[in-house]
This record gives sequence, C-alpha cells and structure tokens, in this order.
Amino acid sequence: MTKKYPGTYLKRDEMYSLPGLVRYKPTAKYSFSAGIAQTKFLEGLKKGKIIGVKCPSCGRVYVPPRAFCEYCHVPMNEYVELPGTGEIHTAVISYISTFRQRMDKPEIVGVVKLDAPGYTKESYEFAGLFHRFCGITEEDVISGKAIGMRVKPRWKPENERTGSVTDIECFEPVES
Ligand SMILES: [Zn+2]
Repeated sequence: MTKKYPGTYLKRDEMYSLPGLVRYKPTAKYSFSAGIAQTKFLEGLKKGKIIGVKCPSCGRVYVPPRAFCEYCHVPMNEYVELPGTGEIHTAVISYISTFRQRMDKPEIVGVVKLDAPGYTKESYEFAGLFHRFCGITEEDVISGKAIGMRVKPRWKPENERTGSVTDIECFEPVES
C-alpha cells in the first residue's frame, strides 16, 4: 500500500502563481423550463396542494408528475390531487446542511410514501417525496419506530410560498 506519494507537494500560493491558472469565482446564472408536468406540481405547491399524475394504462400515480409513464411509455395527462398524508418509508439523521456544512443539531430527513387513495398498491410506490421531518426524534430513527409513521405536510404560510418543494416546511406526525 502506498504510504507516501512520489513528487513535490505544491503549496496553495505556489499553485496560484503557476502561469495559466486563474483564480476566479464563477457567476454563471441559468434558468430552465420546468415543463408541463413539473409546472403542475410547482403551481400546486404554491396553493398548498400535492399534485400527481395518473397513468391511463397502468394506473400508477407519479409524484412529482412526469409527462410519460416509465412502464407503459404513454403520455400522462390526468392530474390528481393527493391528500398529502403518507407514511415514512426511509429516515436518516443528517448532520450535513443543504449547503454541505456540518450542523451541530441534526435534521431528520427521508422519503415519504404519499397516500394515493383509490389507486393500486403498485401506484403507491411511485408517489414519494424526499423531505425533512419535524417532530421525529433521533431515537425514533435509531429504534426504527419512525418507519411507517403516519405524517402530513406542514405548509408555509400562503404568502411565503414560491412554488417550490420548500413550500412544505416539513412532514410532521399525524396526531391520532
Ligand atoms: Zn403506466
């Protein structure tokens, strides 16, 4: 096993003094079209609704919606509003922020399988969102209690929503 790599280590200042190397901060700006299906989803979030799309052939419900069914290769146009409730499918304790910084207090994040009532068991597998959880403890995750827990979205106030998945603050346990 290599313990020491051959060659000469460059110090930071030496590296930047090399001819041809430019130190700069990229300022690239970009925008993209969300497309028909994603637009329906984002517009729904702004109104406090979770919108999916149902395949006319197999009945699968996709969240976020897509324009074509991956299984039947047919266009999908039947948009459906989901109740928003669901169950925790996966949960992890994360110490890394969305800006990739270490956090002192961790967040619980994971995948929610959303209820898609009236549709098939298979369809349910495709209605999922990765999000934050509130009101779920680290102990709930470690013990496995979090898995299968019933949750619902906690929406931001309407005037703070921007048509983004962060219009949902987090998913929190459904009080029973
Ligand atoms: Zn299909």
